[in-house]
Formats: sequence, C-alpha cells, structure tokens
Amino acid sequence: MKSAILISPKVMEINRKAHVPFPGPGEVVIQVKAALTCGTDIKAYLRGHPKIPLPSPLGHEFSGDIYRLGAEVEGFSEGDAVMAVHSAPCGECTFCRMGRENLCSTIMEEKVLGAYAEFIKLPERIVKINMFKKPEHLPYVEAAMLEPLSCVVHGMRATEAEKPKNVLILGPGPIGLMYLMLHKINGAKVMVAGRSTGGGSNERFQVAKDLGADAVLEGDLQDIAWKVTEETDGLGADLVIEASGSREIWEGSPSLARRGGTVLLFGGCPPGTRACFDAGRIHYDEIKLVGAFHFTPSDVRVAYDLLVSGRLNVSKLISGSYHLDDLQTAFNELIGGRGIKFAIIP
Ligand SMILES: [Zn+2]
Ligand SMILES: [Zn+2]
Repeated sequence: MKSAILISPKVMEINRKAHVPFPGPGEVVIQVKAALTCGTDIKAYLRGHPKIPLPSPLGHEFSGDIYRLGAEVEGFSEGDAVMAVHSAPCGECTFCRMGRENLCSTIMEEKVLGAYAEFIKLPERIVKINMFKKPEHLPYVEAAMLEPLSCVVHGMRATEAEKPKNVLILGPGPIGLMYLMLHKINGAKVMVAGRSTGGGSNERFQVAKDLGADAVLEGDLQDIAWKVTEETDGLGADLVIEASGSREIWEGSPSLARRGGTVLLFGGCPPGTRACFDAGRIHYDEIKLVGAFHFTPSDVRVAYDLLVSGRLNVSKLISGSYHLDDLQTAFNELIGGRGIKFAIIP
C-alpha cells in the first residue's frame, strides 16, 4: 500500500511498498477514504515537531471503511463506514481519574499517525472509545473533521462559563473559523481578525464572512486593537481566542480583552517559546488566561453529534482535494498561504 512518510523536515516520501497492517485483538484496520491537511502537519513538515519523532508517517484527520476487524471487537463489522480521532486516553492514570483525559500521561505516546495512506490501523483504546459509525448522509471528507472539531469543542468548554456576548478570534485559519461557527450558534457577535497578506488571507476572510462573521478586522495588532475598540464601544472583547500560534499574537491578546474578560490561548507556539504580558491587566483588570489542549472523549462525542446534525457548514473549510500522490502539492499550497484545508484522497 501507499503511505506518506516524513523523513526529515521538508523531505517527504510516498512509500509504495508498505504492508497493509493486520489487526491484533481489539484493533481495526481502516481503508482511508479521506484525510485532511492540518496546521500541525505543516509545522511538522517545515520544522519537525516535539511530539513526532522522525521518520514518521503523517496525517491524523481521516475517515474510511473498516477493512479488517481484529478479534474481540464488538459493535462494528467489516465494511462499516467509520470516523475516529487518532488518540484515546488510558482511563487509569492520575489525570484520567481526575476527568482530565486530554492530559492523560500516555495520550500523545499512543496516538496514531499515518492517515495519508491507503490503510491505517487503530489500537484497541481508540476503537473502544473514539471510533464511531459514519452516517451515510455525512460525506467522508466532512467526517474527517472530527479531530480538529473535537479540539475546538474542548476550547469552547474551557470558556463556556463566560457566556461571551462578543468574541474576537485572532487567526482566520480552520481552527479560528470553527470557533466562529460555534460562537455564532451560541448567538455571540463574532469578530475575525488577522494580518492581510493578499491572496490566501482574502479567501479566509471571505469564508469568515460567508460563515456569518459580524466583522472582519484585517491588519497588524495595532490596527486590530483600534477596530476592536470601535466594535465594542471602547470596552474590548468579552472573549479573545488566540488561534494563530505566534508569540506576538499571544502577547498581544490580553490587551484586546475587556476588563474581567477571558483570553483563550489555543494556538501552539514553537517549543521553548516564552510570552510576556502586562501583569497589571491580569491583576487589576482580572483578565483570565486559559490554555486548551487536545480533547476528552466527551468532547469527541459532542463534535460527532455536531457533525452528524449538519448544523455546521464545515464543507466551507475544505478548499479542494488532492490525490495522495500529490500531497506535496497540497502542502506547498498551504505553505504559500493558499487554501484553508485540503482533502487528501488515496
Ligand atoms: Zn489536526
Ligand atoms: Zn490516562
């Protein structure tokens, strides 16, 4: 079978002689029907990734059909169309027992990569907790959104107590646009902000408008700050969501929140990044800084129900599709600032 392997940063190969995996007890082998590109893959491709030792297969957003079922798997049959995420918690460690399964001590070590391939094997943990039947009305490409949407649902829950009336999203990428859709469902006024870089960013801002953004704020942090002031009667945003993963934006986020507001720091920065904040804003203005990472099984369940319900227009985030052989071209498009997410079809 074919499988994309990242050999070292910027060196990717399609291995055409990989063996189709065989499922052990509790495991399942999926024939991939659609995979999706993700910012994490692009970061790993460009600079390596602390959680992805190389060489490594790549790709973690997918859906497909069960090709082979291991012994003792219940509730599924060969040929079933399924959707899954690429990790599941152990259920036994300190963090799992606290209900913080996203922080499970082994969730990252046990994750599965290799969705840019014809087949992918899922371990028992995932099959038991985080794999679902895909209803027929949901296209494979949209079903593959389960993983990124689960991350966004986790971030929503981390800040839901704030019930924000207005939300500022910094970064019009796929994650920012999913936050936009969910906050619009909640009835908030949503502003989507980012640097305008021409071509690609125009497309992203256009999609933000199509998805119901109340305002699109283009420019650098200074410009955005002016516009947020205007949009919020001088108060600042109830909730600021950092979805760009850049130190500059992390540092600038608290200054865009209103007094008593919340900042959700979502975008992962390169390892070792340090960010500075004005301590006075955190103290005197009680700005809350919240981190969010990965997802729990209950976040995945919520994301699954959302996708199945058809309430989210996730197809808007998929800019086109490429054959697995052309994965490199899809990556080059994203690196060049074009497109939001691409479907990779084996
Ligand atoms: Zn992803
Ligand atoms: Zn655990």
